[in-house]
Amino acid sequence: MKRGPIIEISLDSIRHNYEYARGLSNNRPTIAVVKADAYGHGAVRVANLLEGLGVSCLGVAFSSEAIQLREAGVTAPIMVFFDTPGIDEVIRYALIPVISEAGYAQTLSIMALRRNTRVSVHVKTDTGMGRFGFVPDIDEEEINALSTLTGIKIAGFMSHFSEADLVDTNFANVQLERFVALKARLASQYSGSLWHIANSAATMYLAQAHLDAIRPGLMLYGYDPLKEGNPALRPAMTVKCRILEIRRLPAGRSVGYGRTFVTQRETLVGVIGIGYADGFPRVLSNRAHVIVNGRLAPIIGRVCMDVSMADLTDVINATAEGESLPHECILLGRQGNATLSANHLASAANTISYEILTSLGRALDRTFTYQPSR
Ligand SMILES: *Cc1c(COP(=O)(O)O)cnc(C)c1O
Repeated sequence: MKRGPIIEISLDSIRHNYEYARGLSNNRPTIAVVKADAYGHGAVRVANLLEGLGVSCLGVAFSSEAIQLREAGVTAPIMVFFDTPGIDEVIRYALIPVISEAGYAQTLSIMALRRNTRVSVHVKTDTGMGRFGFVPDIDEEEINALSTLTGIKIAGFMSHFSEADLVDTNFANVQLERFVALKARLASQYSGSLWHIANSAATMYLAQAHLDAIRPGLMLYGYDPLKEGNPALRPAMTVKCRILEIRRLPAGRSVGYGRTFVTQRETLVGVIGIGYADGFPRVLSNRAHVIVNGRLAPIIGRVCMDVSMADLTDVINATAEGESLPHECILLGRQGNATLSANHLASAANTISYEILTSLGRALDRTFTYQPSR
């Protein structure tokens, strides 16, 4: 029997969020980021949807992710942000590599020429993330030298903000200035290339960073990196799990490992089929809620490997006569007036919505269901 979480993805919500992002950017080309299995939402289905909506390009972290999409029939351009696929992969799967250092560019160029072809690439610049890329000013000779490599065509330049949530825009503006200044210096040499730096936060809150294309990830899945519950966005993921058992414990009994919760009253304890092996963080022990019958019920005791416990006393006492006992609960999503967002879970777990979505989305034994897009 499948025991793990049921993950429902609303493709309609992703469509809405994508179109919202496009509208904010005045319909600039969009490089839609579907790395990490589309932030846990299932990269193939999300890519199919976005392709149907005419997305300019998809962005992934590694070539293995791009190959998975190609093998599933995705034909849209795919940019590979973080690794260095060899020429055969680049040609066979029509990948757009991102060049972060000169050696890879040279190898790619030589190999492309040997195959009588020219490969389109984008160039990564490090304006303040301190991760990948050529540093403007310091590495500028190397950037200039890329134009001499006849096996590659520099189709674009990119950079990435280190303030992903833009709570503070000061440094983002410094990065943007560095990027735009580089663009001006390279204008004659690399005319016609696409300059892009806008992640979700910049797509929403830093219009001057939209430049030639936007590159949103998180917002496509319905979350605003800066603030909770932006009504313009629609969270696409709902996570449910089964209630395996409901038991009645008297007051004064401990629940779960380490006896971190002791009943204060006669308590109806629901044992629910999700644990830390399913990406439900153990730090949420005694700190999160589930939704049952449209009402919030607290998680009690430690989150176990495969199951957790919730106090269903109030929910069940409020259940109308004749209504059957609940057999399902919601960990992420909404029902009735109750909402549990990835931001709620993230703040209780001292992390960010990105991590909640990706960890729930890669549950060991999950079932995805997709609601169609209009
Ligand atoms: C993940 C990523 C993005 C998207 O960032 P969000 O904050 O999710 O919008 C954009 N560009 C690069 C290079 C990334 O790695």
